[in-house]
Amino acid sequence: MKCPKCDNVMQKVSVEDIEVDCCGNCEGIWFDLREHDHLKDIRGSEDRIDMGDPAKGDQMNAVRNIHCPRCTVQLVKLFMHDQTHIKYEQCATCGGVFLDAGEFTDFKQMTVAEKVKRVLVPFR
Ligand SMILES: [Zn+2]
Ligand SMILES: [Zn+2]
Repeated sequence: MKCPKCDNVMQKVSVEDIEVDCCGNCEGIWFDLREHDHLKDIRGSEDRIDMGDPAKGDQMNAVRNIHCPRCTVQLVKLFMHDQTHIKYEQCATCGGVFLDAGEFTDFKQMTVAEKVKRVLVPFR
């Protein structure tokens, strides 16, 4: 499978029973439907799949007209719910998601903070 942003051939990386595709060039990651949601619950998953430079990931946000590596339709640019600084691309057909370098780590860290918030709220 080729990287939707830079056309480099992506490598499969497994974390427990979830297999994602990582780009060794731009260091972006392709997640099939809901895989990023499942992976955020796995401890240390960001150290396995997201080792890219966030500054590079930020630059890759400027790449336009990218297509789904699975169904070739154009990906839609979106903002992460509750984390609007994270821009990502999603396929409206298969639900796959592309995250640039550092974005999964960012997504995951915020999730931990959100969980803490949820635990603390009932005690106010
Ligand atoms: Zn790439
Ligand atoms: Zn697709």
